[in-house]
Amino acid sequence: MTLTAGVVAVQGDVSEHARAIERAAAAHGQDSEVRQIREAGLVADCDALLMPGGESTTISRLLRREGIAPEIQRHVEAGKPVLATCAGLIVACTDPQDDRVDQLGLVDVTVERNAFGRQRDSFEAPLDVRGLDEPFPAVFIRAPAVSEVGPDVEVLAEWDGRPVAVRQGPVLGTAFHPELTGDPRIHDLAFFEQATV
Ligand code: GLN
Repeated sequence: MTLTAGVVAVQGDVSEHARAIERAAAAHGQDSEVRQIREAGLVADCDALLMPGGESTTISRLLRREGIAPEIQRHVEAGKPVLATCAGLIVACTDPQDDRVDQLGLVDVTVERNAFGRQRDSFEAPLDVRGLDEPFPAVFIRAPAVSEVGPDVEVLAEWDGRPVAVRQGPVLGTAFHPELTGDPRIHDLAFFEQATV
């Protein structure tokens, strides 16, 4: 079996996510094909989608302009998995508390952009994540935090008392970058392990 995964690549580099997806798939005995999503018409052929970090205002604007936004919404309505990381989570949420972000409403959370303050612009933390046996080395880069969660959202991890990994149905969102430490367990959780709610 081959997992076809689309990485939304309207901004930035996708190679680290592609490697993590390939490793997660290989652990399940699957081949994988990673496709870059920069234009409309490609999402429908993907089994799984990844919405990476970057700048949420820019990403959300490009997704609308290119007509990719409604395709991602249809993917989720069909119950297919999405991993949304950092700015990807800001774009995926229901309330980014910022008019410049044109959110997709895929996961019922309110987020606070750049929530961890200037002194801690970026940091790495060993994070206990529900569903993982050992702490995950989580890299936060100008990361958001989740400030409110809807009734159907499961909180998978918290840092400093704030949710930083959440799951609703087929969508898993992280405030951190799971692709930067070579540890594919978050990609595995998002694409290969069933949600518990
Ligand atoms: N601070 C960025 C934003 O608000 C997100 C940063 C990231 O994706 N690493 O869009």
